[in-house]
Amino acid sequence: MRFVFLGTSGAVPGPDRDTTSIVFEESGAPPLLVDCGGSPAQKLMRAGVDPVSLGRVIVTHIHPDHAYGLPSLIQTLFLTGRKAPLRIACREEHEAALRSLLGVFQLLERPGMFPLLWEPVPPQEGFRLDAAGALTVTTSPNAHGNMPNLAVRFQSPASGVAVVYSSDTEPCVAVETLARDADTLIHEATFSERRAQRFGAHSTAAQAGEVAARAGVRRLLLAHIDAGHHGELEALVEEARQHFSGEIEVARELVPYTL
Ligand SMILES: [Zn+2]
Ligand SMILES: [Zn+2]
Repeated sequence: MRFVFLGTSGAVPGPDRDTTSIVFEESGAPPLLVDCGGSPAQKLMRAGVDPVSLGRVIVTHIHPDHAYGLPSLIQTLFLTGRKAPLRIACREEHEAALRSLLGVFQLLERPGMFPLLWEPVPPQEGFRLDAAGALTVTTSPNAHGNMPNLAVRFQSPASGVAVVYSSDTEPCVAVETLARDADTLIHEATFSERRAQRFGAHSTAAQAGEVAARAGVRRLLLAHIDAGHHGELEALVEEARQHFSGEIEVARELVPYTL
């Protein structure tokens, strides 16, 4: 399994970090994009992934930083001659909104548009998406205030190796359960403990460390870092390290992680 961060920032990008999205690949299967920030096609190319080869997009929730690039991705795929269907998985509450978003740009009724196969995800722990490729994809609802959202587990059936992405969430048991014994947990760490009181519905680096420890993962990658913390990444790692003894780093953009 290989994955590459196309972005690692919170809702606001910084000069060196874009909003959080990740592409996953397993040999012999179409790549899978999770969340859709700015200019996703160009970012995929920079990550060494041909956008036309995408098999599925998962939009975890409809805060703009996770969804706003979807129309531009669909337009690029259309203009570059895609014919194959594209799966779009999202919480069942969000399918209509995402269709509306594409409708604003009249992308749904364009003659010759490739088929979009919507995959509405129910708010059910351990929900298994259809096997569209070589990775087993399982979702669970997380805890992102009043915004329906989901965390995702990607597991290679051949090796059993698993990577879990929390998406935006407070620390919650559902993510901990989904991440049980995974190799890598990608957990949001929007704020430090110092700034934790500013906003709800997110996690601190310390809380990400606590979840990683309880889930028993080997490695924790901190992502969705608020722009106010981009200059103090080591401090975030140190904060998480007070709670988790495994490997920890702040996720790097456009650098392949191979398992
Ligand atoms: Zn976000
Ligand atoms: Zn959010």
